[in-house]
Amino acid sequence: MGKYFADILRAIGTAFQGLTIVIRHLGRKKVTRQYPDKQNEYILPERARNRLYVNMDDCIGCDKCARACPVDCITIDTVKSVPGEDLGITTMNAKKKSLWVTKFDIDMAKCCYCSLCVWPCPTECIVMSEVFEFSEPKRENLIYHFATMDETEAGQHIQNREAYEADANIQRAKQAAARSSEL
Ligand code: SF4
Ligand code: SF4
Repeated sequence: MGKYFADILRAIGTAFQGLTIVIRHLGRKKVTRQYPDKQNEYILPERARNRLYVNMDDCIGCDKCARACPVDCITIDTVKSVPGEDLGITTMNAKKKSLWVTKFDIDMAKCCYCSLCVWPCPTECIVMSEVFEFSEPKRENLIYHFATMDETEAGQHIQNREAYEADANIQRAKQAAARSSEL
């Protein structure tokens, strides 16, 4: 019986406590953000973690971001350039590019927003953007393709590299044969 009345008293006390908080905040400035009705009022924190963005003009295909990712959600394919191809330099630190980045996918459905891919990038081209609204009904739409070349162009670079390496192998074999005939 004692416990019964103790529970009633505790319930009244809790209700009173809640009411006191409400009354205390009645005259104060409202801080509730009217999201999503007034999105412009929402200012993201300086280091907010949102959807990733990759500036492919500055990506050198080094794979450091993919290796740092704890959930393997970055997939990068590269092809070595052949002599005579000029891929230009990065705008960030004037680093010469030597790899064609034929594929650069990030599966944002797997991403845990840890930002570990951002810090090792030598050209600072993978960054957290300000986009945080990108829900999708289909998971495959959450795989973002950043590579700027299509399959045809990628295939051409692969062919160029294969042809170059095949030619280099032939030259090496000829030189080896010539050396052994001199002995
Ligand atoms: S934020 Fe983390 S989980 Fe997402 S891609 Fe970068 S390293 Fe991977
Ligand atoms: S670390 Fe930077 S430069 Fe290297 S592959 Fe990733 S995004 Fe490109």
